Amino acid sequence: MNKKTIESVNVKDKKCLVRCDFNVPMSGGAITDDTRIRAALPTIKYLYEHGAKVILCSHLGRPKGEFNLKYSLKPVSVRLSELLGRPVVFANDVVGEDAKAKVAALKSGEVMLLENLRFHKEEEANDKEFCRSLSQFCDIYVNDAFGTAHRAHASTAGIVTYGFAHTAVAGFLIAKELECLGGAIESPRRPLVAILGGAKVSDKIGVINNLIDKADTILIGGGMAYTFLKAKGLNIGKSLCEEDKLDLARELIAKAKERNVKLLLPIDAKVAKAFPDPIDAEVPFRQVDINEIGADDMALDIGEETANFYAGEIRSAGTVVWNGPMGVFENKNFASGTYSIASAVADSKCISVVGGGDSAAAVQQMGLADKMTHISTGGGASLEYLEGKILPGIDCLNNVD
Ligand code: AMP
Repeated sequence: MNKKTIESVNVKDKKCLVRCDFNVPMSGGAITDDTRIRAALPTIKYLYEHGAKVILCSHLGRPKGEFNLKYSLKPVSVRLSELLGRPVVFANDVVGEDAKAKVAALKSGEVMLLENLRFHKEEEANDKEFCRSLSQFCDIYVNDAFGTAHRAHASTAGIVTYGFAHTAVAGFLIAKELECLGGAIESPRRPLVAILGGAKVSDKIGVINNLIDKADTILIGGGMAYTFLKAKGLNIGKSLCEEDKLDLARELIAKAKERNVKLLLPIDAKVAKAFPDPIDAEVPFRQVDINEIGADDMALDIGEETANFYAGEIRSAGTVVWNGPMGVFENKNFASGTYSIASAVADSKCISVVGGGDSAAAVQQMGLADKMTHISTGGGASLEYLEGKILPGIDCLNNVD
């Protein structure tokens, strides 16, 4: 997907409305993790260094369409100002008198942040008049929020699709997602190995379906592996199973075979008699061959042989795309499958792209983040991208001529 970026347009003296993802975790009014703010800095710096009037906007939490101090972006403007080492003007509203006055006074090379977009229900409703109001702050629209790119909201797509912003380009964060995630799927160095885990088959059907047409090998782990194993006639005891997806699992296995794609399933598992409650509780467990899961066993992680087998596939991969943990990694007794896979990806010379969410969290917990080529900044968005869906926040951006 060839989209224009902020480097393709002249931003000097232009009002650049930048959709950021400043949806940071907060506790008692304080930001507990500023990763998302830091991630936006390259785009913001580029814009003011090139003489743009930088007007930032974002959502924070779920304020349900009304002003709520708890979800104010004010603390973000303070932190952003510290990180940039320069003032950030904060507007106390989104499209009201305060924002209008502050935008009118904004000089080239200055930065301001609007209040939380979701204080207006019109944002998520993609209301045309709200898009028109936002567009008064916009000579150039910049989307740098990959995490919300799968949503057709006013600030993520509507402002462009309703025709209020004609110049619409990607910031550096979205450009990197397109290069890495897009590159891994559309023009991978082969073999392309997809690693898919997580709880449910139903959440990953779209991804498996799309990747069967693109990948050379698909490694299945996590709870969803057991629906596939049952579909193949194995006893899975009390392991997670979606009975209504057994036929679909058989179809996917057949489709992979038809296309000469290796769809691999666990050959051993770590099993317990019950799901740990609370999730980090110590429960007795043992490792069994996949044919030896007992009637009252629940498989909660891939076993060591599976981890070694999958690691071999990862070692010889040209590209790896990974989404979803291999087991109940929140519990230390069932985390080793996910950790072994993370290590194998880190040690491989392949191009490695990790989807957002749990797999990204596992990689971060292990301190392996800098060994990956790319960790996606959007859980839901990266999943939809891997499903081959069109993301409204990307689709609306100008194509390279
Ligand atoms: P997802 O959000 O679909 O990526 O699923 C992530 C969740 O799947 C994590 O909370 C894991 O604990 C859970 N999970 C992974 N493997 C299993 C398993 N074998 N049985 C039950 N839950 C699992």
